[in-house]
Amino acid sequence: MPFVVAIDGPAGTGKGTITKLIAQELGLVNIDTGAIYRCITLKAIRKGINSLEQSEELIQIAKNSSIYVENYTGDQRTFLDGENVTTEIRSKEVSDLVSQISSIPEIREIVVNLSRKIAEGKDVIMEGRDITTVVFPKAQVKIYLDADVEERAKRRFKENQEKGILGSYEEVLENVKTRDYNDMHKKVGALKIAEDAIVVDTTTMTIEEVKQKVKEIILERRK
Ligand code: C5P
Repeated sequence: MPFVVAIDGPAGTGKGTITKLIAQELGLVNIDTGAIYRCITLKAIRKGINSLEQSEELIQIAKNSSIYVENYTGDQRTFLDGENVTTEIRSKEVSDLVSQISSIPEIREIVVNLSRKIAEGKDVIMEGRDITTVVFPKAQVKIYLDADVEERAKRRFKENQEKGILGSYEEVLENVKTRDYNDMHKKVGALKIAEDAIVVDTTTMTIEEVKQKVKEIILERRK
């Protein structure tokens, strides 16, 4: 049976960085499911759709898009209809709209199925918002990463600067708070702590410390 490590938590808790590092060290395939919702959002923006009232069109986009991810020397590359959109899906426009689009139940169903399919037959470490609760509720390891909202916004702002993504710290903080609210109040697939998940509060921890802690949890379960 494949080994599944499921990681959830709000934006800026270090999920992406940690899963990538651990995947490399433990020989797991890392899958960032947020990238799939971001692809659908990017395609909607390109088609000029920016309102949830056009939900039928949004569902059609999700149904009729070819989205796939591949691991490239530890980093995930994301393709939308054959185009490499790895960088573009991180833009402010996409970040501002993605949590609304991902609240549409029909879109969630498509992405949940696709996420399971990508993981099929592999030992994976998958991160998102509903991995421990919906995508893989029976995962061998379930972890919820958390941190104070200001600290998360600081991290995301720094990361954006490094990647050349525009926007002030205040805008990032606002975006993180709005996404937290939207993600925690979804009718389907809301971000919540699974009963049997281990919570790691990363507010005062370095990346190295979080990595060690998460690795310990995984190795303990893998025995
Ligand atoms: O992880 P990331 O911040 O890139 O995710 C972008 C957005 O996609 C989240 O704010 C959330 O609305 C949505 N998402 C989700 N379920 C997942 C992964 C991401 O709803 N499993």
